[in-house]
Amino acid sequence: MYDFEEERVREFLRRTGAKRAAVQLPAGLARFLPGIRRPFDELGVEMVVLAGTCYGACDLADDTARKLGCEVLVHYGHADMGLGSALPTLFVEARIKVDLVDSLRQALPALDFKRAGLVATVQHVGQLEEVVRFLSAQGIEVVLGGPSSRTRYRGQILGCDVGCAKALAPVVDGFVYIGTGDFHPLGVALATGKKVVAVNPVSGGFKVFSPRQEEFLKWRKAVVARAALGKSFGVIVSTKKGQSRFNLGRNIVKLLRQEGRQAHLLAVDDVSPEAVENFNFDALVCVACPRIPIDDAERFERPVLTPFEVLVMLGKAPIEPYQLDEVSLEDRG
Ligand code: SF4
Repeated sequence: MYDFEEERVREFLRRTGAKRAAVQLPAGLARFLPGIRRPFDELGVEMVVLAGTCYGACDLADDTARKLGCEVLVHYGHADMGLGSALPTLFVEARIKVDLVDSLRQALPALDFKRAGLVATVQHVGQLEEVVRFLSAQGIEVVLGGPSSRTRYRGQILGCDVGCAKALAPVVDGFVYIGTGDFHPLGVALATGKKVVAVNPVSGGFKVFSPRQEEFLKWRKAVVARAALGKSFGVIVSTKKGQSRFNLGRNIVKLLRQEGRQAHLLAVDDVSPEAVENFNFDALVCVACPRIPIDDAERFERPVLTPFEVLVMLGKAPIEPYQLDEVSLEDRG
C-alpha cells in the first residue's frame, strides 16, 4: 500500500557511503519494518531504528542519530519541513497507493460546491491531479493553494499548518480533504469557516465538517472555564526541533504571572501526562504540537489549553472566531 521508495533509499545509502543509518518511523509504519529494512540489509548498512514516538517531520532525531554514531538518517512518513539536519537526511514520504475514485464517488452527494479548495496530507499529494480530474468532470472547479512555511507541496496541510487552505478561503465555497483522521479537516473548517468534505481513501468513507463547529466550541469553552478556576499553570514547551516555541512559552508564563497566576515553564521532549502530571498543576498550557490539547485531551486529568485559549481565559480575546493553534518557522527560538 505504501511506497517506501527502495531505489531512492539505495541510491542515498550508496551516495553517502554510510555504514550505520538511523531510521525514524511513525507508529503506523512500524509493522512494515521488515520490508523497509531490505535496502539497508542488501547494502550491508547497519540500521538503528529510533523507536520513540515520531509524529511528524517536526520530530527530526538528527542529534540522537549522531550520538549513536549514525552517519545518515532516513525519516519515513513525513515530508521535509525545512528544519535542516545535522547529518545527511533522506525523507521517504510513504505515499499511499490506493484507489481514490470510488471514495470520491461516494462523497459526491455532499460535494455541493461550485468551486472547491483541495487539501491533503503528504501521503496523498501525489494523487491530487487525479482528484482534480474527477471533480472537474463533475462540474466542480478545483483550486490548490500553497505550499506554506512548513509544507513542501501545493495542497499539502499539516495538523499545525493549514496555511494553504486559509489562503484559498475567500475564493472557494468549501474544501475537499483527502486523508485519514479528523484533526486536519476540523482544523480547515475552523480556520476557514467553510464546509469541509473529508474523503478517507483508506476506509473508503467520507465525513462532513460544518463551518461552525458547535460541539467543538462548547467543549473548548468548558475546558477554558475549568482552567480559569486554577491558580497554578504548567506551560509546556517541546524540545523537538520543529515544535519548539520557547519564546511563546516564556511570554505566556509572563502573562499568567502578570494576571496573578502561578506559572512554570516546563520543557519536555514528548508531551505526555506521565511527564507533567506529578507537578500537580491546576491546568496546563501546551506550546508544543497543536494536536495535543485536542486529540490527547482525554489522556490528561487536567485541562490543557492552547496559547490562544490562555488569552480567552484571561479575557483578552473572544473565543469566536476560534483561532486554531498553528506553528510557523518564525515561532522557533
Ligand atoms: S507539530 Fe504536530 S501537527 Fe505539526 S508536524 Fe509536528 S506532529 Fe504534526
